[in-house]
Amino acid sequence: MTSQAREGSIEPEMDAVVLRGPQQFAIERVPTPHPGPYEVLCRVEAVFICGTDPHIIHGDYPGFWPRTYPFIPGHEWAGIVVQLGKGAAELGWRIGDRVAGTSHCGCGYCRMCASGRYNLCENYGHEELGHRQYGHYSQGAYAQYVVHSVRSVFKLPPTLSLEEAAGMDPASIALHTVKRAQVGPGDTVAILGPGPMGLLVLQCARAVGAGRLLMVGRGDRLAMAARLGAETVDYSAVDPVAEVRRLTEGGPQVVIECAGTPTALAQAVEMCHKGGNISVIGIPLQAGTLPIQKLVLEEISLHGVRANRGTCVEVLPLLANGQISIRPLITHTFPLRDFAKALEAFQRRDGAMKVLLKP
Ligand SMILES: [Zn+2]
Ligand SMILES: [Zn+2]
Repeated sequence: MTSQAREGSIEPEMDAVVLRGPQQFAIERVPTPHPGPYEVLCRVEAVFICGTDPHIIHGDYPGFWPRTYPFIPGHEWAGIVVQLGKGAAELGWRIGDRVAGTSHCGCGYCRMCASGRYNLCENYGHEELGHRQYGHYSQGAYAQYVVHSVRSVFKLPPTLSLEEAAGMDPASIALHTVKRAQVGPGDTVAILGPGPMGLLVLQCARAVGAGRLLMVGRGDRLAMAARLGAETVDYSAVDPVAEVRRLTEGGPQVVIECAGTPTALAQAVEMCHKGGNISVIGIPLQAGTLPIQKLVLEEISLHGVRANRGTCVEVLPLLANGQISIRPLITHTFPLRDFAKALEAFQRRDGAMKVLLKP
């Protein structure tokens, strides 16, 4: 089949989850978008619900994520390139390429982008300057088709399934989180919060050489961490700080906070070894207090994390060779048309980890 013929088979309209206001969403028929210069149009084959998505749908970030309605969320996806914008072919993109997307696309020339930190682009929100954050304020992938900049799609290893590849974005964030914490060979790493991100962090920490892995949590999710090879600490049964310190002789060299509460962040500092590193991917919505004297006098380094930078290309081989596995985290699969049911299953949390949608 020629590329022209395939382009010709793109339907002019597509199904998409369209937000019309906080909590107001429906599956609608909308025009299929067209790729601009250095963009590609992709057919979405698999897309996960991210923990941020219910907040975006509920309108928890008014005027920011999204900035305006109507809006199509969704940013953890994989699919097939079906149309090339101007310049994409010259950069090596082909119709039929299997790809996964990531949400951030930097402007490419601000000080942060020029130093490789495009996740902190100084032109955030300026689409006219080339910035995008797909599924957050730029149109996303809860749809049959999505347009992405060539900076925000990555070609897949042939052995990696599209379902697992849809997890590239969160897996790349987990890898960035682990790298920010400077996990070294043989280090003991404690992780707080066995949600999808905590379980990906667990696998990434092992992939970069951690010696021991401890997970703090409770219930089914902690049991999942045990199945993935972590030593477990149930915070509903014991004081997690005292228990982690008892198990690790003076604390772990690295603590990674994935629970997103001020209490967990304070516990991360309390349990950390002298001179240790703490990475924080959970976003606390309230203020809290930290043991500041311990931070200062024990030279503990605290690293914030915003999405990822540069770790999509690094995480793909680890996903392809099974050092990091998305498969055990996929608990539910729905057709895109059943988005409301899928969101409900995700939010009920009874055993739901990663919920997959198939457009
Ligand atoms: Zn996400
Ligand atoms: Zn920039």
